[in-house]
Amino acid sequence: MRIGIVGAGLGGLLAGALLSKNHEVVVFEKLPFLGGRFTNLKYEGFQLTTGALHMIPHGNDGYLAQALRKAGANVKIINSKPDGTFLINGKEYLYKELFSLLGFKEKAKAFKLATKLKLGKVDKNISFGEFLEEIDLALKVGNAFTGWALSLTAYETPMSEIIEIAKNYHKFGGPGIPIGGCKAVTDELSRIIKKNNGKIIKEYEVKRIEIDEKAYIDDYEFDVVISNISPIETQKICNIKFLKSKPKPSKGIKISIATKEGIIKHGGVLFTPECERINGLNQVTNVDKSLAPEGWHLVMTHQTQLTNNVKKEIDLGLEDIENLFKGKDYKILHIQSYRDDWPVNHASNGTDIDNIVNDRFYLVGDGAKGRGGIEVEGIAMGVLKVVNYINS
Ligand code: FAD
Repeated sequence: MRIGIVGAGLGGLLAGALLSKNHEVVVFEKLPFLGGRFTNLKYEGFQLTTGALHMIPHGNDGYLAQALRKAGANVKIINSKPDGTFLINGKEYLYKELFSLLGFKEKAKAFKLATKLKLGKVDKNISFGEFLEEIDLALKVGNAFTGWALSLTAYETPMSEIIEIAKNYHKFGGPGIPIGGCKAVTDELSRIIKKNNGKIIKEYEVKRIEIDEKAYIDDYEFDVVISNISPIETQKICNIKFLKSKPKPSKGIKISIATKEGIIKHGGVLFTPECERINGLNQVTNVDKSLAPEGWHLVMTHQTQLTNNVKKEIDLGLEDIENLFKGKDYKILHIQSYRDDWPVNHASNGTDIDNIVNDRFYLVGDGAKGRGGIEVEGIAMGVLKVVNYINS
């Protein structure tokens, strides 16, 4: 089959790499670089990024890692140990230690919630925030987790997504870091497409998708078209009106910091439930020193954008950083805000669109993630669904 792909983000490149084994693939990318929001941005010797925090949510065992292996990609992913810690009253706690911080009555409530969850007796129609709200610390911890992982507050996160995320976590475990960062992943995928005689056309903005007896990207004819751009943008340039509901994007702010002494000891996430805005941070150089100049660490913070006043949100994030780094030497390298056509997610978890529009037309990327798929894991779930469908 001749397959045209619009967009060379992680979704388009992963689909292209998997499909180019058996099909003729052409990828169109409007920018001069590949990888979209999952590639590196070199700055003063630090490997910053166009989006992601150099983390793969379920590490070397999750959906993305499996899809990479299936594509033949040579990417080394180091699982983080521990997955993460929580900073409370200036002390770091593992997830399982948080229980000890609760008072007697709260412990009983937490036990009740955990049992309900285990027995599958939770109302799936409520939000994660509503589920947790009886216990102040649990709500704070929940907000830090959803803010970091999904760029949503706990109240914006459907409980049905949390239940699926928890299942995936039990199956695959926590995050990992690809050696070489995001670019190592997307570079490998584009290498595979080219090796399989696929074509990647850069600096080409697709203006029209037409699905009929055949499928068209502008004047190029294909058997099948896959769109890796946002579902809303896809619909704008397509003759088929497929959106029954509008996906709701998630917005966020990332601050990249240079520090010689570092702030975290492990390669996982330091969640910060007590910060005004920052939900968590990582120090990827604990795993891959090549992501910073010799002797330096790269720390990246993430916060979900709570109001439309971006400047105020950034100022509050910077105040949090000042408190977190009190007494330490650090330098702000870069502040990036993600919204509009370059958000954290084109569809926040729970508002994703189905991947299969019809036999000629498919959607991949972070507007069409699988259920309970955190970020690139959700993208990989969607891509695998499309690839299996096309190949079946
Ligand atoms: P994109 O990367 O946006 O790719 C779409 C591509 O299509 C782009 O290259 C774009 O230029 C191109 N395009 C658009 N319109 C056209 C057109 N008309 N014609 C041709 N090309 C077009 N995920 C994780 O798993 N781990 C993390 O640590 C993580 N951290 C994050 C932190 C932040 C601050 C942000 C913003 C995101 C983070 N994510 C993370 C999410 C992850 O980066 C994204 O989900 C993922 O990169 C999106 O990939 P995509 O392929 O869906 O879209």
